[in-house]
Amino acid sequence: MRYQDHETPVFWLTSGPVDIYPEVREALGRPVLYEHDPVFRARYARVTERLRVALRTTNDPVILQGEPVLGLEAAAASLIAREDVVLNLVSGVFGDGFGWWARRYCDEVLEIRVPYNAAIDPAAVAQLLQARPDITVVALCHHDTPSGTINPVAEIGRIVASHGAFLLVDAVSSFGGMDVHPDDCGADIFVTAPQKCLGCPPGLTIMSVSERAWAKMKANPRAPRASFLSILDWEGASRVDRPFPFTPSVAEINALEAAVERYLSEGPARVWARHALTARACRAGVKALGLKLWADDESIASPTTTAVAVPAGIDAAALLQAAQSRCGVMLSAGSGATEGKLLRVGHMGPTAHPVFAVVAITALGAALHAVGVPADVGAAVNAAMQVIDAAADLPQ
Ligand SMILES: *Cc1c(COP(=O)(O)O)cnc(C)c1O
Repeated sequence: MRYQDHETPVFWLTSGPVDIYPEVREALGRPVLYEHDPVFRARYARVTERLRVALRTTNDPVILQGEPVLGLEAAAASLIAREDVVLNLVSGVFGDGFGWWARRYCDEVLEIRVPYNAAIDPAAVAQLLQARPDITVVALCHHDTPSGTINPVAEIGRIVASHGAFLLVDAVSSFGGMDVHPDDCGADIFVTAPQKCLGCPPGLTIMSVSERAWAKMKANPRAPRASFLSILDWEGASRVDRPFPFTPSVAEINALEAAVERYLSEGPARVWARHALTARACRAGVKALGLKLWADDESIASPTTTAVAVPAGIDAAALLQAAQSRCGVMLSAGSGATEGKLLRVGHMGPTAHPVFAVVAITALGAALHAVGVPADVGAAVNAAMQVIDAAADLPQ
């Protein structure tokens, strides 16, 4: 997307962090104000309000001063009390990782696990909740990025709501790139971040917390307070008459303001359409290259990341390296359990534009050629273009 020195890729088509929007880059160049400066206080309040609009929630959004692993760990530490019984839903690396935190804060963690190319079945969730009415917290990763697959969060949310358990949703790599919001899916804690679909640098957690989740955290004697890991410390932090618990990441807040304004002024529906179209075009091209999608069913393939299965006998790292050295395109490897098994093309923020589907397919084709696998790049570009041409409204 940009030429830098010869060491860096020309296109970052990664699944986050991503290249940032020009407006965000400009905002990062703004003065770094003193945290007590009324201008900064007003900005913090404004960003929080705009986030509320973007999140479509009635809750007061919370911003934590660290990338979203902080938010996820803080959510586990604050919401889960010793006596809770947690149901952790695992369809990938992040879902699996959440279990690790959950087990630290309570004694019983149940899991429903599916292969990392599949999605959680809501019926299985309903069945287990019925069998175990003592489950008090359910955790779900909406888009498990290292697998590029989407879980049915709205359906699972309805089931959890009728059972009465608290629902914790990791929407880090889906919010801002598709239609997912905390109140719509009944999330009590909804964790997201600026460095994926909002096109910002990493450094902050964005969180929505329901009223009853605040009450539960306040009643939990082990919920962190006066701690970097605390959510409670940041309650009402956007009120200008309250001191911040500690200095917020001023430059990141500047960037977030620009990103959220951009998202709202482009129009969320249009932004999601741009992500979905890019992913659709990319999937068509990938298949026409003779590659297989990682997802066992295309209906669960993410609009923000396309995960491509690495053909048997081919070295994933060699493909990534070739895409970069031949075409200047940086793609993402798998992560954890999916490493070596798949490659990922990110469609997030500025790279969620159909032209980048064509770029990714061309680079994947060149990478296949580099490792000696024949692939018809022309046919693949045509397949992607057919999807783009057929779209009623091509995002600009
Ligand atoms: C990116 C991401 C996170 C944050 O994890 P990092 O590895 O620090 O980037 C958490 N959850 C999901 C689903 C993510 O995609």
